[in-house]
Order: sequence, then structure tokens, then C-alpha cells
Amino acid sequence: MIELSDLNVRYDELIALNSVSICFDSEKTTVLIGPSGCGKSTILKSIIGLIKKESGSVTVDHKPITDENLYEYRRKMGYVIQEGGLFPHLTAEENISIMAKQIAWSDKKVKDRIEGLCDLTKLHYSVLKRYPAQLSGGQRQRVSLMRALMLDPDILLLDEPLGALDPIIRFELQNDLREIFKSLKKTVVLVTHDMGEAAFFGDKIVLMKDAEVVQKGTIIDLVKKPSSPFVSEFINAQRSPLETVQ
Ligand code: ADP
Ligand code: MG
Repeated sequence: MIELSDLNVRYDELIALNSVSICFDSEKTTVLIGPSGCGKSTILKSIIGLIKKESGSVTVDHKPITDENLYEYRRKMGYVIQEGGLFPHLTAEENISIMAKQIAWSDKKVKDRIEGLCDLTKLHYSVLKRYPAQLSGGQRQRVSLMRALMLDPDILLLDEPLGALDPIIRFELQNDLREIFKSLKKTVVLVTHDMGEAAFFGDKIVLMKDAEVVQKGTIIDLVKKPSSPFVSEFINAQRSPLETVQ
């Protein structure tokens, strides 16, 4: 459904994406993983058109995204940026409804949609009267997800949505998120640096290093048929707590 072909992106002299080609399948979750600085966030920004590419193409359902149709496509994409990106001076509810108000949804339609999203994300409506600073980390991420889902986009782009959470909240949200992705049949691109999380979510995993794709496949492909020593190294670098128990 989303296809990157031979995509090259530079920030001045720095090559951020070097001839990257990836197909993100419809209604599936694709996980982007790799060391810090390898280009994961740049891929999401390229899909949503926040970055000018040097060459290559981004297509959705085989149609290229251009300057002319960019805004139409953005409506079909929900984006959760690293650290959530909620506006601090707006309440959770105002954050969630901001785009719907811009396109003139009625108050009733907004309220009905928010109530539905509260059920989906298991957040009590009263919590939405608070400002982001008055929410816990887990609640903030649920609100960020609600904001991304508000206009019912086909595509969800999530940049390390669970990176800053403590392990128990993270575990709980991982379960809830996976359920939401499956039930809503969204095309999801999720960035993480945690291999366990990648295996949990990813129908397909794309491992990157230094602006390039190293390997694409299922977790089983990566474990059993690593395309280079780096793949095994990256997988094995994630320590299990049991390892340290004699
Ligand atoms: P990741 O999300 O995998 O950590 P990014 O896609 O954010 O990596 O960044 C890829 C590379 O591009 C990094 O070296 C980063 O420092 C650099 N970079 C990212 N954004 C900018 C920017 N706006 N200007 C200059 N360099 C950038
Ligand atoms: Mg990043």
C-alpha cells in the first residue's frame, strides 16, 4: 500500500536515507528498527511529506504523493511523533479535536468520536479535561494515539510511541495497541529500538543501519536467516534479565 522506491534524503551533507526501498503492506504492521540515527524517523517524515526528498518516490496505493495532493494524503495518515507531541497549552480533549474542528465537524460528531476513542483506548472521558502536563506518561500516549486516530486514517505512523514509559505501563499499552491495530485493520508503521517490541508488533520488520535497509522480513527470518553478522549482533545485543541469573 505504501511504497518507498529508491528514496534518497539528505540533510545538507549528511545522507539520511540512501536508496531505501520498502513496501508497507495494507492492514499490516511494519516495524522500523535500528540504531539511533539510522534514519527511522526520516522514513516516517518522508511518508507524511515533512521532508523534501532528493530523489526516489513515495506512493500510496500506487499513486505518487506530490506537492499538489500532499494535504489530501495527510488526512489519511495519523502520526504520533516521538515524545507524543501534544500541545502543552491545550487540554487533552482540545488536542484530540483540533483537526476535526479545522475541517468543521459538528460538536456532536466530535464528542461522539471522542467517546468512541475513549472506549477503544481505555481512557476515561474525564481525564481529557486535563492538560498534558497533568497526565501520566501512559495516559499521554493514549491521548496522542486518540489524536492520531480522530479522523479515522487508513495509515498510522508511530515514532517510538512507547519509548519513554516504565515497563509495566509499556507492557499494558503494547497489548492494547496491538489489539487496536488488528481490530481497526490499519496500515501501521511503527518505529522502535526494542527488538522484543518489534517481534511483538511486526508482521514485517525492517532493520536499518547507516541510512540503509539491512534486512526485511519476519522476526523468524531475521533470527534464522540473518543477511549479515550485524543482524545477529543487533538481535543478540538486547539482554534478557534471565541471562544474568546463574
Ligand atoms: P533515527 O530516527 O533512526 O534515530 P533520524 O531519521 O532522526 O534517525 O536521523 C537520521 C540522521 O539524520 C541522523 O544522523 C540525524 O542526526 C540526522 N538528522 C535528522 N534530522 C535532521 C535535521 N533536521 N537536520 C540535520 N540532520 C538531521
Ligand atoms: Mg527517531
